[in-house]
Order: sequence, then structure tokens, then C-alpha cells
Amino acid sequence: MRLANPSNMTSTWNEVRDSLGPAKVLLIHDPLVGLEAIAVVDNVACGPAIGGVRMAPDIGFEEVFRLARAMTLKNAAAGLPHGGCKSGIIARPDLKPLEKERLMRAFARAIAGIQELIPGPDMGTDEACMGFVKDEIGRAVGLPAALGGIPLDEIGATGFGLAVCAEIAQEFCEVRLEGARIVVQGFGAVGQHAARFLVARGARVVAVSDSRGATQAPGGLDVEALIAHKKAGRAVAEFEGGAAASGDELIAMDCEIWIPAARPDVLTAKNADQLQAKLVVPGANIAVTEEAERLLASRDVLVLPDYIANAGGVICAAVEYAGGTRTQAFAAIEERIADNTRQILMRAGSGEPPRVAADAIALERVQQAMRYRRRGLAPPATARPELDL
Ligand code: NAD
Repeated sequence: MRLANPSNMTSTWNEVRDSLGPAKVLLIHDPLVGLEAIAVVDNVACGPAIGGVRMAPDIGFEEVFRLARAMTLKNAAAGLPHGGCKSGIIARPDLKPLEKERLMRAFARAIAGIQELIPGPDMGTDEACMGFVKDEIGRAVGLPAALGGIPLDEIGATGFGLAVCAEIAQEFCEVRLEGARIVVQGFGAVGQHAARFLVARGARVVAVSDSRGATQAPGGLDVEALIAHKKAGRAVAEFEGGAAASGDELIAMDCEIWIPAARPDVLTAKNADQLQAKLVVPGANIAVTEEAERLLASRDVLVLPDYIANAGGVICAAVEYAGGTRTQAFAAIEERIADNTRQILMRAGSGEPPRVAADAIALERVQQAMRYRRRGLAPPATARPELDL
């Protein structure tokens, strides 16, 4: 068990600590329900931290720390009155519903006292999970509509934001959405809606993968039919409207736009040279390593920073937390992601990954906010932050 290795934890802790955070780390071990988890609050200068709860059997310290920092930067970059956090539950996400509910409820009780941590859905968790968390501790975002939430995965908040980001990126590269061939790695909440919103903008999706394989059709897949197929619990490789392929083939496929929407570190220095796309719009967090971003920038491949491109979910969550509607959420996503994408691409130096400009902008915002905060004092999560809707 990775969380039980103290030397691993100490070295990770020494590596991740810096002037921004993390502010708080909670290790959870509840043998009665079989819960092992980690919760990291990175920085709360901008306000109470919002971040997803990821459920995966192989999640480790470093991944959660890095994801928590990514949330600090993402929330600041999006101009939200929220800091960043992340949680990881070490478990298979396909647990039986009752077992999953028990784990989510136990996790919620364990973080109840960390008022500045507002959990949301992430890979392996969904609106129902957040419903259980809210029931236990009275706070969570990404809630089911029946609980008055804006169901961000159901409406495709993050996928919509990716499409907006790709639309603005057209002004800064030679790719045009009309007729563009798109490859999507990971066909869950993010991948499905990104495909749908990009097809609505004239693109065609030529290959899609999930954890069990891939499907491809050079002329374009019927995305609505593929979504229905996937919702019926079947693997994309079994889709009759495409030819089965292995997930590993996706990276070298002929296309203009590549969308990682599954796991971290999928484009690395080792495989970046195989990528054929000219534009990468990450749905998954930290899907492209910094080294790969530099290599791709030197080849004129435009890689949008993950936390700029995939901020739709958290913008939606912040609108929900502030009491807004789904119409206001879509408007906020469109406005903020379009503005931020344009701003960072205008500031990005040539041959340099746009992340450098994005980091600078996000960091400036967090540092400005830190000047107004007394160290260690987070605003209570129950206080509704001001969000301009
Ligand atoms: P999800 O659980 O709904 O879907 C994940 C998909 O990835 C599934 O289709 C799964 O089969 C597939 N997958 C897993 N391992 C794979 C692999 N090795 N190769 C190919 N496919 C694989 O999760 P999601 O909500 O769609 O999130 C996907 C990613 O986007 C995660 O990294 C998440 O942190 C990030 N993200 C999600 C949101 C959101 O709003 N849901 C917001 C921002 C970022």
C-alpha cells in the first residue's frame, strides 16, 4: 500500500512543499470500512478550496499533491474566489454501489473538520458520490440536480470548456475546427461531451479510447451513437460503427487535435515525437509532462495548459456553490475560458509552451490574494464567496 510507506511520504513532502503550499494534508485509514485516502488542501488565499475526489486503485501521494497544486492554479487562473485542493481514495471505481456509497460517506466524515475543503467529482466519482458527501457534511459541489446542484458531468461543463478553448486556439494556430480530425483518449464524462461539443463546431472524431481499448473511423465516428453504446456499459472497442484498435495506437494517429481525457502523464518525452496532431487540448489534469510540452512547442504543436482548457467543471462548481443556474454556468465557462485562453496565448513567447504564460498569470493572482490573508486562517467554507454571475 503506497500510503503506508513513510519514507516515500517524507521525500514526497520535502519535494512538494514551497511558498504556496500545501496548507494541509490528511491521511485517512479506516480499516472498518476499508477506506484509505489522502486529502490535500494546497492553498486557500483566494478562498475556500474546491477540488475533486479521485477514486483509483493506484493513486499515490505525488499525484494528489500535484493535482491539488493544479487546482490552486486552475481556480486562480479562472478568476474564482477559491483555493485548490484534491483528494484521492485508493479503491477501484467500479465497486458495487453500496460499497462505493459506504466509502464516500466514510471519506466525507473524515474530512468534515477541514472546513476549507470543498469536494467535487473527479475520475472515479460522480454526482451521486457528491450527494452522499453533502448528506454527511453539508458541503460538496457537482451535486445531482435533485439536490439543487448543477450536474456538471451530465451537462458536460468541462467538455464544453474544451470546445471553447479549441475555438479560441484557432486564432493562434493553423488548425480550423471545421473539418478537423479529433482523437479523444478516455471516453468518460469529459471525453464524451468534448467530442459532442466539438462535432457541433464542425469537427469529426476519428478515434476514441477507454480503459479497455479503442475504436476508429477515418471518416468520423457517430459520437451520439458511441455515447449511447458506452452508456449501455460496453467498451468503445466493441462499437459496431468503428474498427477496433488498441489504446496505444491513438498517439500516432493522423489527426489535427488530440484530447487526453483519462489519466496523467500520457504525453511524455518518450512518446511526444509520435504525436501527429497540431493542437492538444487537455481534458485530463497533468496529462502532458512539462518536458513533452517543451518538445512539442519546439515542433510548433500548440499544447494548451490543462488548467486553462479543462476549467469548465470547476467554473460550473463555483457557480453552483454561489447559488447560480446552469445557464449562468455555461455563460461563465464560455466567457472565462475564452478570455483566459486568449490572454495566455497572446502573452506566450514563441517556441515556449503557453503554460509558462498561464503559470505566471495564475501565480500573480494567488500571490496578490496571499497579501490579504493572515497565514493559516482560511475563510469558512460556509461563507458564500462573491462570484460575479
Ligand atoms: P471518467 O471516470 O468519467 O472517465 C474516464 C475515462 O477514461 C473512462 O472512459 C475510462 O475508461 C478511461 N480511461 C481510464 N484509463 C484509461 C487509459 N489508460 N487509456 C484510455 N482511457 C482510459 O472521468 P472524467 O470525469 O471524464 O475525467 C477524465 C479526466 O479529466 C481526469 O483526469 C479528470 O481529473 C479530468 N477532469 C475532469 C473534470 C470533470 O469535470 N469531470 C474536470 C477537469 C478535469
